[in-house]
Amino acid sequence: MSLFSRLRDALARFMSGRYGTDSLNRSLILIWLLLAIVNVFFHSLVIYVIELVFCFVVFFRMLSRNYVKRQRENAAWYGMTSGIRGAFRRFMIRRRDGKNFHFFKCPNCKAPIRMPRKVGRFNIRCNKCGHSFQKEFKK
Ligand SMILES: [Zn+2]
Repeated sequence: MSLFSRLRDALARFMSGRYGTDSLNRSLILIWLLLAIVNVFFHSLVIYVIELVFCFVVFFRMLSRNYVKRQRENAAWYGMTSGIRGAFRRFMIRRRDGKNFHFFKCPNCKAPIRMPRKVGRFNIRCNKCGHSFQKEFKK
């Protein structure tokens, strides 16, 4: 058995039953990394201490055996960031489809509507609330 496979097995035994990583941990690692990059320029002790706290929290969560608590924390994180993630997802969809689709909101319920980019006057029916309206697109 090679050294590499023995190390891999030892790591697998060590991590067995532990929580590992999730969306919250990846976000914490990203913030930690950004703080480290910022601190290259500022050499601030305060930022360094905050980095250490992030490091501690990331490893604590990763090595924890309390799945229920870690999953609750992750679910709370998802709830807190759902608005930001939704806005980012909409931004990426518009960036990807902007050339081929019109994006607008239903005048009644403000639901986002997407339709193929064409020129002319169209009768549009909102899929969410059923409201019908006319919209004209010029070039
Ligand atoms: Zn609507």
